[in-house]
Amino acid sequence: MRITDDVFIVGGGATLGFGLSDDPDCHVYLVNGGDELALVDCGMADGRSMDRIAANIKAEGLDLDRLRYLIVTHYHMDHAGGAARFRARFGLEVIAPAGAAPALRTGDEAAVALDKAKEAGFYAPDYVFEPVTVDRTVAEGDAIQIGSLRLEVFDTPGHCAGHASYLLHGRSRRYLFAADAVFAQGRVILQNIHDCSVQQSVESIFKLERLDFDALLPGHGAIVVDDGKRHIALAAAACRQLGVPKNLI
Ligand SMILES: [Zn+2]
Repeated sequence: MRITDDVFIVGGGATLGFGLSDDPDCHVYLVNGGDELALVDCGMADGRSMDRIAANIKAEGLDLDRLRYLIVTHYHMDHAGGAARFRARFGLEVIAPAGAAPALRTGDEAAVALDKAKEAGFYAPDYVFEPVTVDRTVAEGDAIQIGSLRLEVFDTPGHCAGHASYLLHGRSRRYLFAADAVFAQGRVILQNIHDCSVQQSVESIFKLERLDFDALLPGHGAIVVDDGKRHIALAAAACRQLGVPKNLI
């Protein structure tokens, strides 16, 4: 599904997304840098998800041979569980935040709170977190070049450790890939897991509030093409009242 010439949404489950791939996949975005394409997160690659995402890319007239990078926002399974399979099938360079790389490389289920998420019923008890080779790690201040487009890296922990957001300088707009740091209407996802931090989440929201962008492209729920900053401001306003923004789930 085309958002603009710069960004397409090519995956995501039906519960908190557009039903482009299987639940519980997050929104899977494709950045069109011309000569090179990149995915921002990839979902679980469970069931038919990877085939559906590949078909969605082709249906937009985009050439799968130009797909070069998988850029991971954080290590939760609905965002990165399928990274190893995507890397193998499409020969992608996997780029991940430095803070997320160790758990991605080892498949450490406790580190990513998958053990707790299974207990809570979010994932099947027999689901296995497949380790993935992380080819490149990034941290705040780094930039990723995708063909003619540039993506800036911002560390935004709070939802979990090692979470990053990415600012894309597109042809027509600037886009913030905020993943699970903040959502439309200023919502958040704070969870009762070991590496979730209210204070870090608030600092990340304040950091994102200072950025200049048009589109807010979060990991779930509504996407906002223009005036995305207004939605971050709602979350920041709640934090300034010493409250916490409303949870999306
Ligand atoms: Zn998450």
